[in-house]
Amino acid sequence: MSRPTPRLRTAIPLLGRTFRRFAPHLRQQRRLLVLGLLALIAEVGLRLVEPWPLAYVIDTLARAAGADVRAARTGSDLQTTLIICALALLGAVALRAAASYAMTVLFALAGNRVLARVRSELYDHLNSLSLRFHQSRRIGDLVTRVTGDVGRLQEAVVTAMLPLVGNVITLLGMFVVIVIMDVWLALVVLVVFPVFFLLGTRSTHKIITVSRSQRSAEGALASLATESLGAMPVVTSYSLQERMNDRFATGNDRALKDSVKGKRLSAGLERSTDVLVGLATCLVLFVGAQRVLAGDLSIGELTVFLTYLKTAFRPLRDIAKYTGRISKAAASGERITEILDQHPDIADTSWARPAPRLLGYVEFDGVRLSYGPGRPALRGLDLTIRAGERVAVVGPSGAGKSSLAALITRLREPDSGRVLIDGHDLRDLTLESVRSQVAVVLQDSVLFAGTIADNIGYGIGRPATSEEIVEAARIAGADGFISALPQGYQTELADRGVGLSGGQRQRIAIARAAIRQAPIVILDEALTGLDPDTEAEVVAALGRLTRGRTTVVITHDHRVAADADRVLWIEGGVLIADGHPDQVLQQVPDEVMS
Ligand code: ADP
Ligand code: MG
Repeated sequence: MSRPTPRLRTAIPLLGRTFRRFAPHLRQQRRLLVLGLLALIAEVGLRLVEPWPLAYVIDTLARAAGADVRAARTGSDLQTTLIICALALLGAVALRAAASYAMTVLFALAGNRVLARVRSELYDHLNSLSLRFHQSRRIGDLVTRVTGDVGRLQEAVVTAMLPLVGNVITLLGMFVVIVIMDVWLALVVLVVFPVFFLLGTRSTHKIITVSRSQRSAEGALASLATESLGAMPVVTSYSLQERMNDRFATGNDRALKDSVKGKRLSAGLERSTDVLVGLATCLVLFVGAQRVLAGDLSIGELTVFLTYLKTAFRPLRDIAKYTGRISKAAASGERITEILDQHPDIADTSWARPAPRLLGYVEFDGVRLSYGPGRPALRGLDLTIRAGERVAVVGPSGAGKSSLAALITRLREPDSGRVLIDGHDLRDLTLESVRSQVAVVLQDSVLFAGTIADNIGYGIGRPATSEEIVEAARIAGADGFISALPQGYQTELADRGVGLSGGQRQRIAIARAAIRQAPIVILDEALTGLDPDTEAEVVAALGRLTRGRTTVVITHDHRVAADADRVLWIEGGVLIADGHPDQVLQQVPDEVMS
């Protein structure tokens, strides 16, 4: 998570790449963006105009003072001019406020909409990526990308990119006006810039370094907190609280120190900019006064000059702030596009068609599967499972049993060979149409936050009716304990179903599988880890779930295997024996079965 934060010079092109990636979303907001840009230009133009009425008043007064002041004071011409100038000033200020308001709102709206879409796209994309991708990534990191990084990009665009663009345009505009007014004075201002630039980049670099370190400290803190809070039973039973607290405090201190240091640096930069602005003002005042005395510049124009100087330097002071944010945003943008550029390695082929309603005749034809070079999991598996047959798969841990199951739902694709269902090569069928016809119950059944009814209903790709849900729960033998809960099916489950026993969780997972009415059912060690009391109920539930369906039961339980129509004994990715339970089970070493 602690990727180095790029510097501004690399950050801008990086952000450019990110925005090109977001171009379709940006195009959708074209109207808002164009309006916002117009408002921005109007705002800058008005900012340039603002000092002029004042200049005009000063010059008029000076001229009048040079003539007869008392006569001038009553002259109606002069009064009219003054009133017009005052109104013009008021008008400019009011219009600028309106333009600035419109600009802020329009850009914020466009930015938020674009990034909300990006966030959805990112989340959808993560869901579409294959198991292979997810097993190689840390969940926390992915979550940070969806929430933190998108948020940071959003904030940076609205609070740094746009003001920066506005300020740069303002600076350019002011400089053009200054050059037109008086080239010599413009040169004086130009001398101060390099000094400012040097000062600015040096501190900016330091600030970025500090904020990078702060970011990584915060990342480590977040990881520590997620880990320890997610494993509260372990932390408590091993009395790790003290040690966790210490580690947290140390990390917290580091983050705090960095944050204070960053603040000090940027405060320092702001103050030195103030001094520099003072110096520039002092120079312009002196040189400008000479030019006024020489008659090359009016007093009003000098005033405009000084006002511009003040306005122009204020945003410069913020550049450190902006660059920090922009550099961080660039890093975030990169983290987002990196995910979006990943392609799922298992996807529908161009010729894939939706599967018809399957009977459940499964064939493996010379199937080889490996997880990287030198890590074979299945070495040439030939196998047929008849529709409606109940097959137990036994073998030691690491034999390749789960890999076999993963091939049926095409979570993995064979390196060579074919997997067929009802005679269709799985690659000829769409993923969704196959997966929706296979129900899977795993050892660790994951329940989602939400009601029990929701969790069961997730089993089908459309909203389930309450009859379907209750029926599925009956099959799973879960209806009894669910109805006994005060809120019944509407009981909210905490994270991962905490608050239910292992057997209850498992039966909800079985209900989720049952509601699918799938012709093929896979049970991957669905009984492992249950206590004997609930085991009987779960076994009965699984029996009802799999009745009349093609069933693959991966198990270490002797009785469950003996109950099957056929037993496959796999070891080291090779099918060792395949036949009637009585035949096969007597060959299987005792330590494999319990
Ligand atoms: P079983 O379910 O029989 O315990 P698996 O099918 O899970 O076995 O694993 C078979 C082999 O493949 C094992 O050697 C295991 O280490 C390896 N394996 C399984 N999943 C992965 C993975 N995601 N990445 C790398 N190797 C894996
Ligand atoms: Mg397994």
